[in-house]
Amino acid sequence: MKKLTNIMKAKASMTTGFDKVMQLKSKAMQFIKRKNIFNVFFRTISAVAIISLTIEPILAQQDFSQVEIIPHQLTDNIYYLEGQGGNIGVSIGEDGVFMIDDQFAPLSEKILDTLEDLSGQPVRFVINTHQHPDHIGGNQNMGREGAVIVAHENVRTALAAGFTNGDLAQALTADQRIGLPIVTFTDSVDFHLNGDDIHVFYNGSGHTNGDSFVFFRQSNIIHTGDVFRTVAYPRVDVGAGGTFHGIVASYEKLLEISDANTRFLPGHGVVSKQADVLSQLQMFKTIANRVQNAIDDGMSLEQVLAAGLTAEYDARWGDPQGMLTAVFNELIIR
Ligand SMILES: [Zn+2]
Repeated sequence: MKKLTNIMKAKASMTTGFDKVMQLKSKAMQFIKRKNIFNVFFRTISAVAIISLTIEPILAQQDFSQVEIIPHQLTDNIYYLEGQGGNIGVSIGEDGVFMIDDQFAPLSEKILDTLEDLSGQPVRFVINTHQHPDHIGGNQNMGREGAVIVAHENVRTALAAGFTNGDLAQALTADQRIGLPIVTFTDSVDFHLNGDDIHVFYNGSGHTNGDSFVFFRQSNIIHTGDVFRTVAYPRVDVGAGGTFHGIVASYEKLLEISDANTRFLPGHGVVSKQADVLSQLQMFKTIANRVQNAIDDGMSLEQVLAAGLTAEYDARWGDPQGMLTAVFNELIIR
């Protein structure tokens, strides 16, 4: 927390009139620079919201004015930002700001202010872990700031479909293009920044069909997007190509590449250890076995949902119906 604490102290000591004027001037400059960016965010929201209206909150009803962006320091140069939406991973240092996901467009100014406080450097790269609006909503704003947006090719396809109502042959406007990943990959891409080798890799269809993990090899930290979360049962966005079995395979991959010291930064929730990933994986396998047995006994989906198959887990993980439906539908066709 050293750097952040120093910044806080520096801010607290800004008591002279001169400092106050300079502070206001700096904020005004930031505002002028960014004000053109933010008048397009409503278009961004309406475009990306089409993609997964069924599983994400209706953005228009959300009030972002009270949301605070809270930085949490993980190493000398890696942080995550908590606000509203997916946890944002950040690497800062001499080579510039490398960022994972960007939450919602109305939060971009606050996010950029926080990054300015942490590093003073521009955002150089933004990785999109997947296509959901609470992870990519700030893309246009970050693109306008000059950031290069990078994602699996399925994320770009999904976002372009959102802009064009599914007509991928339709030409995109410059405003729309700036919110899309301009660098895409099919398997993996590596960054060598701020003293770390950062391995960004696709892990198949789990939460969506565009899920990537971001592995800071030297720092031994993995941003998992929404595949691994600590807030609820897994969310399988079937409409976006997600599968429960893909999530299980992704957890196995996470265990394979990690060790007891690895820290997992989830899309939603708290920083976790390998043991947390393993215990969730064991729960998924137990649940899948129970659903398979129920199918073998001739039970329907309605009967499975009513059978209390996850009873001992529900107090911790919440409503199992979405997950059970996905598991049932995948197992019944095998
Ligand atoms: Zn998501």
